[in-house]
Amino acid sequence: MPTGTRAVPGTLQMVQRGGRSYWLVKLGQGCWQYEHRVLGACRLGRALRPREVVHNKNGDGLDNRLCNLEVIGWGEHSRQHHRITTWAQRYRACRQCRTTERKHLGGGLCSRCYQRQPGKRWKDRRVRHASRK
Ligand SMILES: [Zn+2]
Ligand SMILES: [Zn+2]
Repeated sequence: MPTGTRAVPGTLQMVQRGGRSYWLVKLGQGCWQYEHRVLGACRLGRALRPREVVHNKNGDGLDNRLCNLEVIGWGEHSRQHHRITTWAQRYRACRQCRTTERKHLGGGLCSRCYQRQPGKRWKDRRVRHASRK
């Protein structure tokens, strides 16, 4: 149930657009609006301009918590989405283990490979502790 994430009272309807799901909210008789756009306008305190987009920061179009919404221009919006699909700014995957599952930590390495580098041994020590029963 999405009730926890809702901020606009009214009937909601889920729609699919471009492979993503969004909420439509009913504002009046036969008047349906994208909920994220209504909330974005609320947040700005004015109507959205035609070239403004309300972006769901975490990529989930159904997560319309205000902290997940950002009003940006078209050009900036496509850059945001590009950034999400590439793993790190200059790397498509970890250059050591080729994963994209773990987060990028630095230098083209995932969190695990980064900490396995010489001089970054604090994590190993913690693991040894944990296995000693
Ligand atoms: Zn977006
Ligand atoms: Zn790695």
